[in-house]
Amino acid sequence: MSLMPAPAAYTGRFAPSPTGPLHFGSLITAVGSYCMARAVQGRWLVRIEDTDLPRNQPGATESILNTLTVFGLIPDGPILRQQDRTSLYEAAIQSLAERDLVYGCACTRSQLAGRAVYPGTCAHKKLPLDGHVVRLRVPDQTLAFVDRIQGLQTENLAQSRGDLVLRRRDGIISYQLAVVCDDAAQGVTEVVRGADLLDQTLGQRWLGRCLNFPEMQYAHLPLAMNAQGQKLSKQNLAQPLDDGQAAVLLGRALEALGQGVPVTNDLSTMLDYAVSHWQTGNIPHKVCLPNTYR
Ligand code: GLU
Repeated sequence: MSLMPAPAAYTGRFAPSPTGPLHFGSLITAVGSYCMARAVQGRWLVRIEDTDLPRNQPGATESILNTLTVFGLIPDGPILRQQDRTSLYEAAIQSLAERDLVYGCACTRSQLAGRAVYPGTCAHKKLPLDGHVVRLRVPDQTLAFVDRIQGLQTENLAQSRGDLVLRRRDGIISYQLAVVCDDAAQGVTEVVRGADLLDQTLGQRWLGRCLNFPEMQYAHLPLAMNAQGQKLSKQNLAQPLDDGQAAVLLGRALEALGQGVPVTNDLSTMLDYAVSHWQTGNIPHKVCLPNTYR
């Protein structure tokens, strides 16, 4: 019998925010994360990232889940909603507070306007966490990781952005904190998502380290751009996916990901083919895709 522990089974996830219906850019992320998990017989989970209450759109969660079903992207476990998990995030803040890794910050947005880097004004004031922004101390050292698609990434968080916001003054948990806690709680082994989040990753890895969470792998997929050269996003009014065109759109998403597309209009045959022929190495090693998509 081998003394080596069995390798952790692969768990991937798709984690949309319910700020509107899915668009072609989100389809690339959903399909990419799904196929990368399935290609190694791993699990694929779906999580709704709805902590930022004012940005949630009524009906968006239902629309997203319906579209995933239409595209045959069926998750392996129950769908988590971050709104139900506030106690987990609060416990994480508590654990960081016990080790003086976070502090209360009273600086207002207008005091910080125009600054890219938080200057650490409140770092040693010992303000209470409640009623203040909660910030995580970051080290003044270069951190690094190798993204499976985008390659080596480095950043000195203290110099590029300063201490990170984990909870807003109004109590809203930041995306950073929720995503790190949930990826760990769900046993995610690889985060596959759009390259627009590449620059958030070293902050998230630092936070995960502070919480003693296991390290994970990252693969940031290239972004689809619109005709104006902007990334497709809800803010740029990207068109919602047309469920009636699912097979065509799935084919285009696979093409964008550098994968072969079988000649068929049958969605589940396409998806099975994509999984069994999946080549992560063929994904374009780019942040933005040169072609334009609508
Ligand atoms: N919820 C984020 C979004 O919709 C994605 C977060 C992630 O994949 O880590 O942009």
